[in-house]
Amino acid sequence: MKNKISPHELSADERINNFKEVVSGYSRQEAIEEARRCLQCNDPKCIGGCPVGIDIKKFISQVVKGDFKGAFYTIKEKNNFPSICGRVCPAEYQCRKACLFTKKGSGCAAENSINIHFLERFVADYGIKHNLQLPLKANPKLTNYRVAVVGSGPAGLCIAGELARVGMKVTIFEGLHQSGGVLRYGIPSFRLPRNILNYEIDYLKNIGVEIVNNIVIGRTKTLDELKKEFSAIFLGLGAGIPSFLGIKGENLANVYSANEFLTRVNLMEADKFPDYQTPVNIGKNIIVVGGGNTAIDSARVALRMQAINGIEPDVSILYRRTEQEMPARRLEVIHAKEEGVNFRFLTQPVEFISDNKGFTKEVESVKCELGKPDLSGRKRPIAKKGTNFRIKADLAIIAVGLRANKLLTSLTPSLKVDKWGDIIVDKSMQASLPGVYAGGDIVGGEGTIIEAMGMAKKAAASIIINISNN
Ligand code: FAD
Ligand code: SF4
Repeated sequence: MKNKISPHELSADERINNFKEVVSGYSRQEAIEEARRCLQCNDPKCIGGCPVGIDIKKFISQVVKGDFKGAFYTIKEKNNFPSICGRVCPAEYQCRKACLFTKKGSGCAAENSINIHFLERFVADYGIKHNLQLPLKANPKLTNYRVAVVGSGPAGLCIAGELARVGMKVTIFEGLHQSGGVLRYGIPSFRLPRNILNYEIDYLKNIGVEIVNNIVIGRTKTLDELKKEFSAIFLGLGAGIPSFLGIKGENLANVYSANEFLTRVNLMEADKFPDYQTPVNIGKNIIVVGGGNTAIDSARVALRMQAINGIEPDVSILYRRTEQEMPARRLEVIHAKEEGVNFRFLTQPVEFISDNKGFTKEVESVKCELGKPDLSGRKRPIAKKGTNFRIKADLAIIAVGLRANKLLTSLTPSLKVDKWGDIIVDKSMQASLPGVYAGGDIVGGEGTIIEAMGMAKKAAASIIINISNN
């Protein structure tokens, strides 16, 4: 959603040729001007809309006074990585939706609701520029304890910072060769530049967090082995297993899961092939199936890959509901449209059609209409009989959801999981095994970065209390 005081953006023509960050931050003057629009409500609903309860009213009032340092510390009390959340939080469904400027009951923030996320980003970038960090508060009672964190996504990074700040020795084990989880392999750098992510990870290393990459817990080392070495364990395994449509032809060549496609480009640098040795196929007519952030990211990455490889951009998103039901961030949808991504709403693929070499060449789809709301609260799409049609698709990317990665839990039967494979935790984020905690996408929930970090903070507090009481 573009509104009131929007920061500068690269033009669509310029940005589809590269992976440079699309949105620049506010200038000092723009930030103060935007902050001045805030009404400083007596009952600031925006705070309740933030999943970690940042004192939004306070930090905005500090921005108005030019006290950016104070604003930084106010945000940091609740949010460990505002530079990341200020860029990618779905604020239009959270704090901005709760802001007084948005009418009660609206599905999404009003255009003129305060740009809380852009203000947060401005303050966070000010903090990075001036190397501001919360002071460490080492607790001598805790410094001899070691905690293992499995997974280096936002949940793992957040808890590592929380525990290292009080002096605990934290080791993160990460299966991939680089850290950051989805922040690295999923979200493209034109939304979250890697220097921002690297800054946050380097800070953790500076305060003593050890990160061991290329270790898959469950395989390379078991949970039982970790338990012998560490006083507590946090599992931030994420939801890295892609869902598929389950339709005919989905196993044809050039039908990718969004995870594989994005990982090849974002983590393995396929855009720089052959300098980097991971290739990715690029089609002339690409379709992406889905309506969330993963679908939009896949489409925008695919479009850039076409442009970089001298192919006329032709990417379509097929979504079985309408734009209104799309869970993706609104701004990314607008950006995707500006860049030339086609949207085919109320469209559901039913079969991929093969060429004579086993590659997809077309997708057959049906038109849908919306029925009554389903369990997700969104109107259920109903396929309309006799509406089948085909469109060219020599490459397809399936982005219809992610599920729990069951590698570790299937090898550790004593760890209780629900029917979806998510780890079951109590209110303190403790799993069924004593001393083992979990948080982030592996325990379910909204599947947002801020929520994963909120759970990690809760788990950190529980670990500190439990260890202090023993
Ligand atoms: P993850 O980020 O998934 O990290 C888990 C890490 O654990 C991974 O690095 C994985 O390799 C590692 N791991 C797993 N098992 C093991 C093991 N056994 N041993 C060692 N390591 C292991 N949310 C937003 O709020 N805004 C957005 O704009 C947004 N965009 C998104 C775009 C994409 C493409 C995707 C996929 C998701 C997006 N999300 C977004 C959702 C958000 O990224 C996730 O909710 C969040 O990353 C979850 O954090 P996590 O720490 O639980 O897991
Ligand atoms: Fe400012 Fe909106 Fe929060 Fe009121 S609800 S304090 S206007 S950001």
